Amino acid sequence: DMTPIQSFIQRVTYKFQGVARESNVLLSSEVEQEAAMIEMDPDRIEQVLTNLIDNAIRYTPENGTVKVTQEEFEDGVLISVTDSGTGIQDEDLPFVFERFYKADKARTRGKSGTGLGLAIAKNIIEAHHGRISVKSKVGQGTTFSFYLPRIQSTK
Ligand code: ATP
Ligand code: MG
Repeated sequence: DMTPIQSFIQRVTYKFQGVARESNVLLSSEVEQEAAMIEMDPDRIEQVLTNLIDNAIRYTPENGTVKVTQEEFEDGVLISVTDSGTGIQDEDLPFVFERFYKADKARTRGKSGTGLGLAIAKNIIEAHHGRISVKSKVGQGTTFSFYLPRIQSTK
């Protein structure tokens, strides 16, 4: 499927406005003006973005922010979820995409998950010939980004 990526991002972000409000976290999206089409499985990419936003809200204390952004490149699009949350320790960073890995459970808001979300996300992004990565600073926040090539068949 060719999916209009801006409206896709805005729709998935909108889904979380209720949860964000309940958690006192300010959730926003910032997408580029020009319409961009991406060849992707929208249900699977929604699962990825859903997990990243869900994590970001869960690991961000009250009055924090979560921002979903889109950056266009010639060959594809980079989608990032940035939070002002707890951050991830350097020693945990290499493992967050591994199955069942959970860093510092004590800081989780509410009940914590199974530790599968990011492993599934990585699988889905790699099946789209994309890349997923993380940058984080303890006490400052975390950014998860994934790159999706515009067209699958040329890869
Ligand atoms: P699931 O997604 O399966 O319900 P989960 O959210 O615990 O469970 P993942 O999404 O795979 O699992 O995340 C793995 C671990 O990475 C989390 O348990 C948490 O320790 C850490 N993590 C993920 N996202 C963030 C974030 N935005 N800020 C801080 N830590 C994070
Ligand atoms: Mg998760």
